[in-house]
Amino acid sequence: MNVNIGSASENVAGGREEGHRLDKLRRSLTRGKQPAFLVSGLPNIRYLTGFTGSNGYLLVTPDKVTLFTDGRYEIQARQQTQGIEILVSTSNVLDLLVDKVRRTRFKRLGFERNRMSFQTYEFLRRKLRGRRLVALDGLLERQRMVKSPLEVERIRRAVELNSRAFDVACGKVRSGWTERRFAAEIEYHMRLLGASKPAFDTIVAGGARSALPHASPQLVALERNAPIVVDQGAILDDYVSDMTRLVCLGRLSNQQHLLFQAVREAQQAAIEAVKAGVKARGVDRKARQVLKKFKLDKAFSHSTGHGIGLEIHEQPRIGRQEDVRLASGMVITIEPGAYVEGVGGVRIEDVVVVTSTGCEVLTRTPRDVRFL
Ligand code: ZN
Ligand code: ZN
Repeated sequence: MNVNIGSASENVAGGREEGHRLDKLRRSLTRGKQPAFLVSGLPNIRYLTGFTGSNGYLLVTPDKVTLFTDGRYEIQARQQTQGIEILVSTSNVLDLLVDKVRRTRFKRLGFERNRMSFQTYEFLRRKLRGRRLVALDGLLERQRMVKSPLEVERIRRAVELNSRAFDVACGKVRSGWTERRFAAEIEYHMRLLGASKPAFDTIVAGGARSALPHASPQLVALERNAPIVVDQGAILDDYVSDMTRLVCLGRLSNQQHLLFQAVREAQQAAIEAVKAGVKARGVDRKARQVLKKFKLDKAFSHSTGHGIGLEIHEQPRIGRQEDVRLASGMVITIEPGAYVEGVGGVRIEDVVVVTSTGCEVLTRTPRDVRFL
């Protein structure tokens, strides 16, 4: 296996990159006249500093960046970050944070409304009397939409690893295996190939249950002569992948095959619509138009795709209402589906990078039904 994880040179590049991200964030904070900002979303802290611990807050001001964490992460925080202050709490991280904020000159503190718990918000409001907490929505989520070349490379490698895990697991399937056994095999091979973990719980849903878009694998034998939806993602170097394929033990009925063809055509149309400058909802509409032609528009019960990166669901969403314009460097999934109760469901999902002329499809696994 040939997965090279986090070479020394990449770590250096990563550190420089995180510095640029902080500079960019500070520019938008200055423009918004909101210079002090408290970051509480862990993926956002990872994005800005490299820190991957499970407890942390980041205070960003024009001249300083401070990471607050607890004793479990003291060494890790020093190893993973560069050029920032690290304060380690022996009891409550929030007390440490409050102390620090009180000693700054800032009367307003921006916070992430979409990331902070109400309990934490109430605590800070109580302890920081005389200062205003200002909700800033989606600042970092917007910044994270466009990926750097280094991020695209990391996603590309996660996508390749995910495809290999799928191939190996498909080659091992035996009749009588349960859905859970198949899902376990996929996740096992992700880890053998170097993934840190699955990006989400692997979906294996056969027969009529394939009509449930987010089914969890059951302790039932893989159904024969029926569609089996497999949706899987692996995390490598903190970046995720996401892919859905249809597999089958035996053969599909004509009706099931038609369903597959319709979704495949819808996915192709959506991929062809992806291009920098196009609105996200324009891509979604293309998939829906094709499914409508097959009278399956009502069977398509979710949006066409989503951004991926450090998280499995990032901006932009590729949905009916999304006015955001795609830009070069965005990495999104294209995953239309059709779900018919009693017959089964189909979804096909690839990861693509938006370019000025269209897109590059990162997922190399053939889209055809994989007959096992
Ligand atoms: Zn997926
Ligand atoms: Zn997805």
